[in-house]
Amino acid sequence: MCGIIGYIGRREAAPLLLNGLKRLEYRGYDSAGMAVLNGSMKMLKKKGSVSNLEELLNVSGTVMLGATVGIAHTRWATHGDPSDRNAHPHMNVSDDIALIHNGIIENYSTLKQELMAEGYEFESDTDSEVLVHLIDRIWKNDLALGLEGSVRHALRHVDGAYGICVVSSREPDKIVVARKGSPLVIGLGDGEFFIASDAAPIVEHTNKVVYLSDGEMAVVTRDNYTVKTIENVEQQKRVTELDFSLEKIEKGGFEHFMLKEIFEQPEVMRDVMRGRVRVEEGLVQLGGIHDYLDRLKQAKRIVICACGTSWHAGLIGEYLIEEFARIPVEVDYASEFRYRNPIVSADDVVIVISQSGETADTLAALRLAKEKGAMVMGICNVVGSTIPRETLCGMYTHAGPEVGVASTKAFTAQVIVLFMLAMALSKGRTISHEEIRLNLRELADVPDKVARILEQNDAIKEIAVKLKDARNALYLGRGYNFPVALEGALKLKEISYIHAEGYPAAEMKHGPIALIDEDMPVIVIATRDNTYAKILSNIEEVRSRKGRVIAIASEGDREIERLTKDVIYIPQASAAVLPLLTVIPLQLLSYHVATLRGCNVDRPRNLAKSVTVE
Ligand code: GLU
Repeated sequence: MCGIIGYIGRREAAPLLLNGLKRLEYRGYDSAGMAVLNGSMKMLKKKGSVSNLEELLNVSGTVMLGATVGIAHTRWATHGDPSDRNAHPHMNVSDDIALIHNGIIENYSTLKQELMAEGYEFESDTDSEVLVHLIDRIWKNDLALGLEGSVRHALRHVDGAYGICVVSSREPDKIVVARKGSPLVIGLGDGEFFIASDAAPIVEHTNKVVYLSDGEMAVVTRDNYTVKTIENVEQQKRVTELDFSLEKIEKGGFEHFMLKEIFEQPEVMRDVMRGRVRVEEGLVQLGGIHDYLDRLKQAKRIVICACGTSWHAGLIGEYLIEEFARIPVEVDYASEFRYRNPIVSADDVVIVISQSGETADTLAALRLAKEKGAMVMGICNVVGSTIPRETLCGMYTHAGPEVGVASTKAFTAQVIVLFMLAMALSKGRTISHEEIRLNLRELADVPDKVARILEQNDAIKEIAVKLKDARNALYLGRGYNFPVALEGALKLKEISYIHAEGYPAAEMKHGPIALIDEDMPVIVIATRDNTYAKILSNIEEVRSRKGRVIAIASEGDREIERLTKDVIYIPQASAAVLPLLTVIPLQLLSYHVATLRGCNVDRPRNLAKSVTVE
């Protein structure tokens, strides 16, 4: 998820690594650290920005002098608060192996228990640390394995996603790296090599790179590198010549962070479910709320408080929890909740949702709910932020850092968390095991379906051309797609500055229909669900007033083509997961309209990423 840079060559490693970390800062992170080898292992790490680490280096960096091999990391916490001791690298007990890791080790707690039972002491709360002790144990048991063999064997025990770099003073002239689900690239210099999580810290040194594929490992020395699969089969790799600018690399080859983040969604969605959803067994395992699940199930009422896009996720949460878990849910704007003297008691559960975990109004709502005796739960993206610290329990979205101000991947991650929560609350109470299994199957299929929608990007851009000069737009949806209509309208407002409204489709005739004429585009979410027939009538109503209809419809729907030529198709899915699909074309539509209008999509005017003021 976050940043990796490794160096092996003939130059001083520490300043090169520090410079590499600076190039990785754009990704967002919460702490940084490095380990180098100059006879023995030297490590420095620090919570906060790379400049904090730099200060530390200025004071104690002389210990690193002479090292020409090392690894460094910017961390975006997933397990354990951002802190000095949770920062990477992590070391084994004898301080002669150091490891940095991007990603999530799903089965870390089982591995940790095993290792602790054998006497291994842990210094951090991270999932990553298990890997370094595992490598240590395997190496001790079979010295002939060496560093490479021990890493290989260790990875066989691991479920999850990783990009790792490992160095050891026992074999000081190499870096062993491996990837599964978290990118790694080797930069080929002259008598030196770089390893990084993307090419950003490499381009200033060389434009020749080798991208590792999932399931591959590499051993990199000063003079060469070999790539094998984790099963130990040697691989021939193609050398790629980079012709990207640094800016383009930072954005993963995309024009903007927002577009990159929209396209990241299939992968992010898998990360959100990682280690939590077991489809065949009909199981959801939610570590952060596990101990409180019974109390949550007994709630007389759930109140969801949030702002902006998170509030829309909350509305979808309401539909999900009420439909499946049959617990009454109310969704409140955090700002309204805190100022209207709400009725809240100890029988209520208040769920607060915030990407940053710092949203001022949401935080105030949470404090008020606590004061009134309610049980409070959080859904946040930033580990260790204020809201998770002040809630009794909660779940992280694990969407990775979101740079674009207009939220995209954090939203879909929140919806997935709420979906998993709805299943956990229903289990053994309101729906059958088989229904849970079917719902989880639908959820697990979502990332592939999202990838298919993203393939239609060019067609969506063509539709955006027709929308770009509009002064107003109306978004309509029903049922699960009503909050998506709100979110679609908000996205358009935020980044293209076109005035847009989202409405439940049936409400149109109670007001907004007066606005409809040939200049008014109406974006209708008309998927095949139990409201389909009704929404077709709504489309007719718009058409008969000469409104221009853009429809989001289910694949295979021929009827809709009769009503409008501008249709974006999404794969078929059960109603409850539809928001995760229907929101994707709306994100892309807003993005393209905004860029066609020349707007700064990553930094829209007047908006801040984390709203820490009232
Ligand atoms: N899961 C690891 C941690 O929380 C790695 C996070 C990252 O990818 O930066 O330390």
